[in-house]
Amino acid sequence: MLLEKTINELAEGLRKKQFSCEDLVKECYENIEKYNKKINAFITIIDKETALKNAREKDKTLSKATSRLHGIPFVLKDAYVTKNIKTTSASFVLKEYIPQYNATVYQKLLDAGAILIGKMNMDAWGHGSSSENTDFGPVKNPYDLERSAGGSSGGNAAAIASRMCVFAIGEDTGGSIRNPAAWCNISGLKVTYGRVSRYGTIAYASSFDSVGPMAKSVEDLAIVLETIAGKDKYDATSSPHSVPNYSQELKNSLKDIVIGIPREFFGKGLDKEVNDEIMKAVETMKKLGIRFKNISIPLFDYGLPVYYLIGPSETSSNLARYDGIRYGEERRFFTEETARRIMIGTYALSSGYYDAYYKQAQKVRTLFIEEYKKALTQCDAIIMPVMPTPAVKLGELLNDPLQNLLADIYTVSQNPVGVPSLAIPCGFTKEGLPIGMQLVGNMFEEDLLLQLGYHYQLNSDWHKQRPNLIKI
Ligand code: GLN
Repeated sequence: MLLEKTINELAEGLRKKQFSCEDLVKECYENIEKYNKKINAFITIIDKETALKNAREKDKTLSKATSRLHGIPFVLKDAYVTKNIKTTSASFVLKEYIPQYNATVYQKLLDAGAILIGKMNMDAWGHGSSSENTDFGPVKNPYDLERSAGGSSGGNAAAIASRMCVFAIGEDTGGSIRNPAAWCNISGLKVTYGRVSRYGTIAYASSFDSVGPMAKSVEDLAIVLETIAGKDKYDATSSPHSVPNYSQELKNSLKDIVIGIPREFFGKGLDKEVNDEIMKAVETMKKLGIRFKNISIPLFDYGLPVYYLIGPSETSSNLARYDGIRYGEERRFFTEETARRIMIGTYALSSGYYDAYYKQAQKVRTLFIEEYKKALTQCDAIIMPVMPTPAVKLGELLNDPLQNLLADIYTVSQNPVGVPSLAIPCGFTKEGLPIGMQLVGNMFEEDLLLQLGYHYQLNSDWHKQRPNLIKI
């Protein structure tokens, strides 16, 4: 299967004419036909003939290609606006919304010659951890169809795991790339705030939102990241920080690297199998010469309250534009979960409560920034779980809103701080469910995280496993 190959292998095979872009895109559609009914990863599948025509054009221009993404099929979370292609954010509020322009991340991928084949299912507006808070039906986990694929970028992760595309662009406000990556056995990168332009992203919480790649391997993430990162005149918060050649730096030696193990992240509430598999990964990395050190992030417990006050506050403001007058359907189409967040945010921002909630949360956010900074002076990166448990059964989080929030405990503190975090596969439960770990680094040190992940993946094969569903 071509879709087992890495981007580098595909680019080389295309160049050597071992197969064509058309063959590759055809294979995506074969797998979509076989698996998507079961998984429900797509909201919009690009018309097959249009995609194949696009692929044939890419075959013709292959000799002039400057990017390894030329002719490579990918998908976007349905949170990115795409000119003349329906964009819903998984909500009936935007059921028929056809954007007039392209998100920068999408435009950059088009310029590189990549081929869009779909817009993916997700938790509406990014609100959720299980891709069930969607008006388009839940996304099922390819490793167990009765379980959640994670969220909110669940459609992305499920599509990569079931080989319906090569890579995907997700959005992470408090774990939405990392959570589904961990539950579907793929790799995902939450970038430093401002590393990738947010122009054309349907906003959840603007000071947390980040745009990042999801793929089968860290090597693929690096190739996509170097294509999409950089300053954008349309996004004033995008950073002018120079964009390294991430994929060329992957092989750099890992001399003198120290990784911190924060005690608070491995305590009560963490599933034993998740804990044990991460500890085995630590042993694997020790063999590569990486040193580990116990550290402490005492504010850990405050991550959820900070996130779930500032996130809803920003979303209550961002979603005010969907008033049913300028565009979109009426506000009654917001789901219960989204209505709850709008109400919490409006409450936290209202006069009389602003000082007690929103302002207080912003102060703790500043303390978190200091705490991560301090921790990262003692080590180069920090290792932690992504999710407290493996993929949950469908309905479990949807029917228990509080549990839904608690599941995010390990992924919500990085976004208020802005630091990057890489989620990669590190094992399976006895039942065969994927387990992920995350490596958090200093601002703009995606290169180091990718190097660590790359070397780990050279010495492990978790990321090469695929669900039984597609083995048959
Ligand atoms: N699960 C988190 C939430 O529900 C994160 C979502 C995200 O990153 N978009 O807010």
